[in-house]
Amino acid sequence: MRRRWTSGRGEQQRVSFWLPDSGDDLTPRSPLDGDTEVDVVVVGAGFTGLWTARELVRRDPSRSVLVVEAEIAGFGASGRNGAWLTAGLGVTPRELARRTSPSTVREVTEAMRATVDEVLRACDEDAIDVRARRGGLLRIARGVHEQPALRSGHRAMVELGIDAGIELLDADALARRVRVADARGALFDPHAAAVHPGRLVRGLARTVERHGVRIVESTRVRRVLPREVDAPANARGRRPRVVTARGTVTAEAVVLATEAWTSQLPGRRRSVLPLYSLIVLTEPVDAARWARIGWHEHELLSSHRLTVDYLSRTPDGRVLFGGRGAPYHLGSRISPTFDRHDATHELLRRQLTAWFPPLTGVAFTHAWGGPVGMPRDWLPGFGFDPITGVGGGYGYTGQGVGTSNLAGRVIADLIVHGETPYASLPMVGHRSRRWEPEPLRWLGARYLQGATARLDARAARSGRAVRRHGLAQRLLRH
Ligand SMILES: Cc1cc2nc3c(=O)[nH]c(=O)nc-3n(C[C@H](O)[C@H](O)[C@H](O)COP(=O)(O)OP(=O)(O)OC[C@H]3O[C@@H](n4cnc5c(N)ncnc54)[C@H](O)[C@@H]3O)c2cc1C
Repeated sequence: MRRRWTSGRGEQQRVSFWLPDSGDDLTPRSPLDGDTEVDVVVVGAGFTGLWTARELVRRDPSRSVLVVEAEIAGFGASGRNGAWLTAGLGVTPRELARRTSPSTVREVTEAMRATVDEVLRACDEDAIDVRARRGGLLRIARGVHEQPALRSGHRAMVELGIDAGIELLDADALARRVRVADARGALFDPHAAAVHPGRLVRGLARTVERHGVRIVESTRVRRVLPREVDAPANARGRRPRVVTARGTVTAEAVVLATEAWTSQLPGRRRSVLPLYSLIVLTEPVDAARWARIGWHEHELLSSHRLTVDYLSRTPDGRVLFGGRGAPYHLGSRISPTFDRHDATHELLRRQLTAWFPPLTGVAFTHAWGGPVGMPRDWLPGFGFDPITGVGGGYGYTGQGVGTSNLAGRVIADLIVHGETPYASLPMVGHRSRRWEPEPLRWLGARYLQGATARLDARAARSGRAVRRHGLAQRLLRH
């Protein structure tokens, strides 16, 4: 039987720490009540859908906007993430330069850094208190084997001219900020902030409603039908539509903001690969332990492992540790039962105390997870096609807290004005090639997951850096 996460406070606690901690009333809004027509229908009430709705009504308050959400606003990755608001994109600057040009990398970096500012500015403007801490981001070399990746990341930034404000810290300078076991240095990036994602997503939903946007919840879109170009003019079927069990919504524009769940929609199964990212969270840590750790500026932390890890310090003094590693499921399946994976959660708990020995004995109060949308080429895409009347934004590779805001502005520009000042960014109008059909997709994803974990383990054991030219790295080129 499918578990209804909204059925009680216990279940809400299980989806993530952030949603109940947002202080917002999580009772589902009314579902769709029959067929309707609007100017724009947005599918999905996460950051992408809600930023798009916000930007649409700001550009043209006369447009009717309806957001259709399968569960409740923030149910997806937006209500479950690691609190990292960064200028990061799935593709590394060096790889993006290889695919485009150094000047494009500079343009993208500038737009992404400005997006971090824009999210915080918009929250101020809308009085959404996301408890932001603008402490920047530290990419730490844990062990000598991670030092080459640290240095090479820095070199790439200098060569591409995107190193403004970036600092290379040695072990002592890093320890003055935060004391991490076996840390050899770090790259400090000031263009980042820790935010409360639950407050952000629930606050955005309340804001857009105040501006006239209607949100319906507990309403799953089953099919998205583009404009029927050959249908006779004035025929009802001519406009794009979304079909739900509770009615059909006809609109001038349909916006897909369903991230990993895009893979569950008919005709889009191979658009993104849903990969699970998992998180563990401690109880609030006492002052004596914080005195040993430091971390007073709430910087976002990660290492240089291939199997991504990410840490943040919550506003109430807990430590959040997230990582990949939970297995991909055949057929791109997504299920609430995959939000927990005991072996991976246990590994994350052990890794956290290895990072911070003073945390030994601190209780872990929460464990959750969710799917991130991986496009085949690691580059997110957003836009709007006036011919089909369908647009959207997805494929953020687990880095969508900032990018979704840029996506929302671009999609709204294109729907309202037919053009956007960001048209030259490689993400705009981009469509990654499709993933392989099954079972190839499963075999490839499982191979890469296993290979990256083995490479990390071997590097940690041997003290030698991961070879960047092996098969896994070539396949993972991003
Ligand atoms: C565990 C975890 C940690 C992460 N950490 C970070 C981080 O620290 N920093 C960062 O930048 N990014 C992080 N990410 C990624 C980031 O959270 C996402 O990229 C971002 O939230 C995507 O927002 P979205 O609105 O596009 O998608 P989502 O928030 O996933 O929203 C999609 C919405 O669509 C709804 N939906 C799906 N299908 C349908 C349908 N058929 N009909 C109607 N509604 C539907 C879903 O219920 C959901 O509410 C993390 C993700 C996870 C899972």
